[in-house]
Formats: sequence, C-alpha cells, structure tokens
Amino acid sequence: MISIAAFESWPIQTDVLERLHRTIESGRIPHAMLFVGKPEDTEVLTEYLVRLLLCTAPGAPCGRCASCLQMDNHPDAIRVMPGDNGSVKTSQIEEVQERLSRKSHTGGRLVYTVPGVDNMTVVAANRLLKTLEEPNPSVFALLSASNLQKVLPTIVSRCFVYPVQSAGNVQPWEDILPDIQTTDAQVSDDGWFAATSKAVVQWAETLLVRKEEPLLLADALVQAAGDVGVDAFLWLLAVYFRDLAHVKAGEREFVKFAQHLSDLERQSQVIPIQRLFSAAQVVIEARTRMKAHVAVHLNLEQMCIRLREVLTSV
Ligand SMILES: [Zn+2]
Repeated sequence: MISIAAFESWPIQTDVLERLHRTIESGRIPHAMLFVGKPEDTEVLTEYLVRLLLCTAPGAPCGRCASCLQMDNHPDAIRVMPGDNGSVKTSQIEEVQERLSRKSHTGGRLVYTVPGVDNMTVVAANRLLKTLEEPNPSVFALLSASNLQKVLPTIVSRCFVYPVQSAGNVQPWEDILPDIQTTDAQVSDDGWFAATSKAVVQWAETLLVRKEEPLLLADALVQAAGDVGVDAFLWLLAVYFRDLAHVKAGEREFVKFAQHLSDLERQSQVIPIQRLFSAAQVVIEARTRMKAHVAVHLNLEQMCIRLREVLTSV
C-alpha cells in the first residue's frame, strides 16, 4: 500500500477512476495509462496524476513536500504540449525519448504526459510506441485522446485505458434535466423557490446525514412537498443534486440553491461527483414514473432505497 490522498480529492470522480485510485493505492501503478475524454477533462486529471506520482510525502499529492512545491517546473515531469494545430510533433516525442534516456533528477520517478495521441502523425505515433515498448520500472506515461478509435491500436494495446467524463459537465446534465432553462427562469423570480428549496435541503439532511428508513423518508417527502406538490419537489431535488456536483466542482456560479451554500458544502463533502449525477437520475426516473400514475408512496419509497444505494455503495 502507498499513501495517497482520498479519492474525494481527485478532480474527476467516476467508478472507473475510483478503481484506478485503488490500484495506485495498492502499489500496482500502471506504467502506461491512456485517458479518453474531452481535452479539458483529461488535462486536469493527468496534471493531478503527475503531482500524485512525483509527490514524495504521504497523502500524495500532499502539496507541501519539495517535489509538490516545485511542480510547475519539476525536472522529472515531462509535459508535451500540442502545437497550434492541436497535434504533437515527432521532434517533441524525440525530446521525451532523449530525456527518458537520462535518470530522474531526484532518483525517483519520471512521468511524461502526451495529449492528443489520436491526433498525431504516423511517424510521431510510432516514436511514442517505441518509448512504450521499452518499459522502465520508474517511468510512467500519461497519454490522452478524445477519440479512442483514432489511436494507433499498437499504442492502445500497451496501455491501460480509462474513459474520463466529468459529471459536472453541462452535457450529461442537459440529458437528464432537459427543460432546465424553464426551471432556471422560475427559480430566479418565483417566491415559492425560497420556501421549497429550504424544504428540499432539510429533507436531504434526513436522507444523507440522519439516514432515516426509506418508508419514513417517503412520508417526510410528501409532507415537505406540501402545497407545492411532489412533482415540483422532485424536480427541485434533482436540481439540488446537480448543485451539490457544482459545489464539488468549484462551480459556485451555477448553483441555484445559493442561499444554502454552507449546507451544500457540508452535504457534498463525502460524495463523489459521479454518485451525485446518478442520484439526480434516480430522482428524475421517479418523477417520470409518477406521471405514469404509479402509486406515489411506493414509488417514493423505491426512489429512497435507490438513492441510499447510489449514494453510499462502493
Ligand atoms: Zn508532495
């Protein structure tokens, strides 16, 4: 086992990456990792992993050791930057090879990052393949691509492949909260929102902190919804889970439950972003079932059971 920071501190949290966290923690760190996703997501993740792999203190990346403090200019972090056209040149890969032929400055690990491996010339890709074919126990490669289909298959076969998708992204939220624009408009000018949002946060507290039984939670939800109605309450509950994800991602400007920010910060603390996304989906599914006239209480009780599973299972 090696001492690394809790998974909750990773910038992107999905089930796949949680497994990678456990793998690294166990000391079996893959020597070549290929992250597939949007450049802005893979970049933030690979940068975090560079820090983690080069940190020399417990709780990596600790942010305090000599290695962490010089991270922006670390001699053992080899970061390849794509050119203006978004692609990496052959000469840049040759520079990596040349650098890898020398030892680490600290006697520790050497880590190199190469973005856009799906957007390289064949010559550059083959050079990269060469470095992957000559494994060195203290060298780690963090590659990234947007499109796995376009990566040289021989490169893919040398790597552990990890899909990367940050749940804080607008795209998946739009999929599950399609008429969010309407809600956003209502939220800003309707008095009912202030009262109902408070009820939602209080109900969430009984779910997340007091961990009431599903049957009691379902009763409490019907009561809390009151005149506003269960349908509207569930809608706001989905928005609430999205807000927790925004808070976790540091995107305060998108938070609708702004008056409850300190509650949201506390409640979101121990829940990975991907779980919050799943929780919102569970709520939206329950809301859809209500429209099909499924018995309200039974439906809500099932939703609470699912929420408990989604939010607490590992
Ligand atoms: Zn450190």
